[in-house]
Parts: sequence; C-alpha cells; structure tokens
Amino acid sequence: MKDFHPSGTLLDFEKGCAIDFSLKNGLSETVETGKRYLSQMKSMFADDAAYEAELKNGDKLVYEFHGLPVPETAGDLMYGCSIVYPGKVGSEYHMTKGHFHTILETAEVYYCIRGQGYMLLENPEGDWRAIGMEPGKAVYVPKRYAHRSINVGQDEPLITFFVFRADAGHDYGTIETKGYRKLLVEQNGEPAVIDNPKWK
Ligand code: MN
Repeated sequence: MKDFHPSGTLLDFEKGCAIDFSLKNGLSETVETGKRYLSQMKSMFADDAAYEAELKNGDKLVYEFHGLPVPETAGDLMYGCSIVYPGKVGSEYHMTKGHFHTILETAEVYYCIRGQGYMLLENPEGDWRAIGMEPGKAVYVPKRYAHRSINVGQDEPLITFFVFRADAGHDYGTIETKGYRKLLVEQNGEPAVIDNPKWK
C-alpha cells in the first residue's frame, strides 16, 4: 500500500514510517536481518556431543532477527521480527541465545505470527516460566526477566514480532556464562522442561 508523505526516506523514525517485513515465506526480503548460525552457539546447548555431531553435517541457520536503526533513546521503540527455524540439537529444540536487557527494569512484548513455541523466562532470583506461543498470542516479558524464544514445531519457523524501549540494550553475556536454569527438550514426542545440567 502506498504511503502519503511530503518528504522523507523509507526508515524515518523522526517523522513516521512503515516497513514491509515480507514474512509470507518466513524470511524478510526487504530489511536486513542479523543471523545466528549453529557455529555461533557453541556450548549453549546442553549436549556438547550432539552439537559437535550436528556441526559435522554442516553449519545451519538457527535464527535471525531484525535490528532496525531506531534511535536508542528512552522515548523510542525498538521493534522487528525474530525467526527461529525448526530443529533440535540432541533432544533440545532450536532456540535463541536469550538475554537480559542491559537496563534490567525494561519489559518487552512478543506477538506470535507463525509457528509453535515457547518463551522461556528467568529472573536473577531464579523465578522462571515457559509460556506457550502460537499465532495470535502476545507474550508480556516482564522487566528483570531474561527471555529466549524456542521453536518446538516440527517443520515450521517460529516467527514473532517484538517491541521494547529502544535504549534497553542487550546483555547476552550473563546467559552465555551462566546458562538458563531450565531447558526445553523433547520427551516422548512432547516438549518438556528439565533442569539444565550445565547451569552455573
Ligand atoms: Mn529483549
């Protein structure tokens, strides 16, 4: 659909703009995405032997996400889509690395567009929950909770739209170092939550 405006560029976060994520085929065709390959997720999955075996078959794209050049101020909103591709490492489902916000006291909303998955939440005190995601469901990630998207579907990408305060920032290091307390694995063909044997 055509936009009407006196001047400006496609990505005008000062005066307003719309972006076509073109998600019909799962992938954005108009906006560049950040990409995370299996080789970039060493030691994040619980089963290191399964991880190495999987990598020997060749690297694979685990997930991607939009990172738009929104001004990183408290009054702006960062947004985009996250796409987690189906698959497992051992019995553990494909997932994002997961992160806290650098400004811990900032929340986020994820709206599920396609697929079947979970949002795994965990705060520094150890409270956790895994919230189911399917098309039409919006997950509220409270302030202070790390969050990770997990695709439990058989053959469909998990696509979510996210929006959060643009200056919140990402803290990936805490999860990379400590891990999550819980994991989502397949048991008897069903998703199950177990303790993470690697959690420090
Ligand atoms: Mn976030």
